[in-house]
Amino acid sequence: SGASIPESEAVRVGLAVSSSNRRFAPMRYISTRGQAPALNFEDVLLAGLASDGGLYVPENLPRFTQEEIASWAGLPYHELAFRVMRPFVTGSISDADFKKILEETYATGPDGVFAHAAVAPLRQLDSNEWVLELFHGPTLAFKDFALQLLGRLLDYVLAKRNERVVIMGATSGDTGSAAIEGCKACDNVDIFIMHPHNRVSEVQRRQMTTIFGDNIHNIAIEGNFDDCQEMVKDSFADQDFLKGTRLVAVNSINWARIMAQIVYYFHAALQLGGPARSIAFSVPTGNFGDIFAGYLARNMGLPISQLIVATNRNDILHRFMSGNQYVKGELHPTLSPSMDIMVSSNFERLLFDLHGRNGAAIGQLMANFRQGGGFSVDQDRWAEARKLFDSLAVNDADTCATIAQVYAECGELLDPHTAIGVRAARECRRNQSTPMVILGTAHPVKFPEAVETAGVGQAPALPPHLADLFEREERCTVLANDLKTVQNFVAAHGNRGKPL
Ligand SMILES: *Cc1c(COP(=O)(O)O)cnc(C)c1O
Repeated sequence: SGASIPESEAVRVGLAVSSSNRRFAPMRYISTRGQAPALNFEDVLLAGLASDGGLYVPENLPRFTQEEIASWAGLPYHELAFRVMRPFVTGSISDADFKKILEETYATGPDGVFAHAAVAPLRQLDSNEWVLELFHGPTLAFKDFALQLLGRLLDYVLAKRNERVVIMGATSGDTGSAAIEGCKACDNVDIFIMHPHNRVSEVQRRQMTTIFGDNIHNIAIEGNFDDCQEMVKDSFADQDFLKGTRLVAVNSINWARIMAQIVYYFHAALQLGGPARSIAFSVPTGNFGDIFAGYLARNMGLPISQLIVATNRNDILHRFMSGNQYVKGELHPTLSPSMDIMVSSNFERLLFDLHGRNGAAIGQLMANFRQGGGFSVDQDRWAEARKLFDSLAVNDADTCATIAQVYAECGELLDPHTAIGVRAARECRRNQSTPMVILGTAHPVKFPEAVETAGVGQAPALPPHLADLFEREERCTVLANDLKTVQNFVAAHGNRGKPL
């Protein structure tokens, strides 16, 4: 058992000939708790949690050779995305259709989705230290990379099946707007996003409530984020109110989101001399989705020598990585709200590999955790994880100090999440000669409070496509913090504004 998937399991895929001729067997997905049926890509896209409470992961990871990876240097982002993700969708989406979807998703230019020609440009901060800017999508956070693809994949699959679905999601900020932007053009999706009334920033709220469509429904709940999330969970558990319409998840338990995030690790490494040399990444982390994608990239053959889990004061993952304690703490509101979590849902996917993919063992760990105990893992499993992962928890004061420091050094204005990544990279770095890439998860304009607290002056202006954000009309329904009220609302509007 170890952090990486054994070679014998990984090298499943047929003939390892040149990448264009390579054939992949249809991918199957299994649950981390070992009791739910295996699914194909199409079904895993439409699934939330597995029926045994676990999360879906690929049964076998594709593994690329160094020559194959090297041959992708210089490819446009969407073509690289095709090569990295193709094995995951084989059996559900034809190559030609998948290529077309990716070309649309990662299009740039005036009519494109991403505002920067490189889609995910690298910006150098210091010698051998880089920020991978993942905030040039429509909502200015990295979540666009996955949710722009998810919306298009859903529409493709649902059109084929002649089926409609309802999405219910809870957001404390970035997920909601990225999900609405990703699904607004979907013919077969009605999306309901709940946010805590008066408890998200004005930029974040307006990024959701100013997008109109008869399939888009913003709900402000008179409660907190946990209340919203609880109602989503309860709705998945009992779906009678949906009258047979399927409910789909858009949070990072959805496998397609993780899959899309693997691509930019390859994209960054290829620009910095990979795969001929190793690369290290520092990842601002909340639910462990983004960094788990980096772990998968490594197991698929990309030489990643170090992954740094960068958290804010909500540090359950740092406590695990530094001391083998996975124990729920209190929730602390911080200047980096997109990482304010008590439990990291995707961590279960790493635990599954650390335990030799033994679903029963994971079921037991999670049962202990739910009963309030928290847990440690066997020392050798923890040591295996520590070969790859380091971690740091950064408080608000150090976050602001880092924003100010980097601004003084090179004139770059960081958002607070990215600043935490930079701080962790500088403190945890193992090797100065290995390029260090910090994932730039959001644009600083989304978090003006941190920028102002850091004392580096005014927050930057909104980019052109959002310049009139504060003048736009908003649409949002305020509802009581009550499950039945919310479910009745969904049932009354879930078919393009009409009753289900
Ligand atoms: C969602 C988010 C994160 C955390 O990502 P996870 O995949 O949940 O670990 C970090 N930074 C920003 C800006 C985010 O929106």
